[in-house]
Amino acid sequence: MKQKRNIKKLYLFIIFISIFTLSLIYKSIRDKNKTMATNTYMTSLTPNLEHKELGKIESIIKYGNNSVIAAHYPIFDNDKLDRNTTSFIQKHIDKFNELIIDNPLADKKYKSELNIDYEVYGSTKNIISIKFTILENTPYYANPKIEIDTFTYDLAKSKELYLVDIMKGKYLETLSNLCTKYFKEQEEFKDYVDKEIFRHGLEPVENNYSNFLLVEDGMVIIFEKYQIFPGELGEQEVKIHYDILEKYIKPQYINRHSVETFAPENTYEGEKKDLEMVRSRKIDPNMPMIALTFDDGPYTRATIPILNTLKEHNSVATFFVLGNRVPKHKDIIQRMVREGNEIGNHSYNHKQLTTISTDELREQISKTQSAIMEVIGSQPKIMRPTYGSYDSRLKAEVEMPMILWSIDTEDWKSRDAEKVSQHVIQNAKDGDIVLMHDLYESTAEAVEAIVPALINKGFQLVTISELYEVRGEVLEVGNIYSRSRGR
Ligand code: ZN
Repeated sequence: MKQKRNIKKLYLFIIFISIFTLSLIYKSIRDKNKTMATNTYMTSLTPNLEHKELGKIESIIKYGNNSVIAAHYPIFDNDKLDRNTTSFIQKHIDKFNELIIDNPLADKKYKSELNIDYEVYGSTKNIISIKFTILENTPYYANPKIEIDTFTYDLAKSKELYLVDIMKGKYLETLSNLCTKYFKEQEEFKDYVDKEIFRHGLEPVENNYSNFLLVEDGMVIIFEKYQIFPGELGEQEVKIHYDILEKYIKPQYINRHSVETFAPENTYEGEKKDLEMVRSRKIDPNMPMIALTFDDGPYTRATIPILNTLKEHNSVATFFVLGNRVPKHKDIIQRMVREGNEIGNHSYNHKQLTTISTDELREQISKTQSAIMEVIGSQPKIMRPTYGSYDSRLKAEVEMPMILWSIDTEDWKSRDAEKVSQHVIQNAKDGDIVLMHDLYESTAEAVEAIVPALINKGFQLVTISELYEVRGEVLEVGNIYSRSRGR
């Protein structure tokens, strides 16, 4: 009897202990959630596909003998602010061109490069922030020079906003204190936070905080490479949640509603629901064929007319697209596939792939594959290296056959429809791959002449994969192809 009672006591004791332990666990979880929820900061913002959702993407791509330029930027159908962005981009291009004039060090293998890409964020309805990453690489530099520049626009008022327009009170001191505290609390920075460069770079002066973004849930301050830490630590971003800054940000700039998306660029007229291929095409393996290819797009004003011409003549081509242009041109990409065209990978933002790190190279390829996958449900099977430059590392890393060309129209140079079309029509041979760019209206115009003329000459216009497949040639991963050997 006594023993039974003791067992009962023991049970009660165990239950009591269990409840106590559970409540402790619960409390610690709750506290943890609480600190997580009220945490002032978050770590860095990773560039993401989503951050091209706002605005339309414009791209400038230039091929020189010793230098290459790819610049991407968003426009918002706001004349004044778009002009502001465009002139910022142009200034960088001019500065770069000046820098590389008579550059005896650069050669065909190691071209000087300017690459500008961006992310755009929306906070409140009309307020958007753009972050530009500007990469300059010339043989004069030991490492590529990377610069960050941000813009915040009030689209409704057509006004660029500076910190002083958005914030109030002792905001610089507040930003300085918060950011200093943040870095001091991070273990990884402990060897750097008592250095002069750290104090100097975080002083409460406007210039130290001029790179900022208003994102959905907070303000992001960006510290450029070398601003507060030695170069090897790179750029730093600190996100401060709006509730922490409530006293210092004017209320109209704090997110109160979700961002309205802007009208998509790529609504093309008609046939939107027509999911079948135009007409069935039959390829005669014994007849001559040619593959037209277009790089650097899609670009509404050139790609759409090119697709129209191809469709009209029941022909197809291959489009080597840029990953960063894909999310804004979903309709065009889908239409390409629907009408039997092929999509190839041409990197994410047109960097020179032979000069970047292996990690970055992989990212350039994989981000583009996923962007396309998201839109058409399958991934490209072929790739074209930017600027046509490749090396053994690229061949080893790109898990696709790489496609160059046998006819170079130099359409980017002449921008002359007549010249481009004549060049193709006169030089076309069975098995050729023709290089063009769906960036220029002059190219779209040339295509209007090229397609019927080649058909008249007895050529079939096919995609890259078709060109090889129907002739029983195998495209191998890691190999370079510039034409089909023929039958
Ligand atoms: Zn290109």
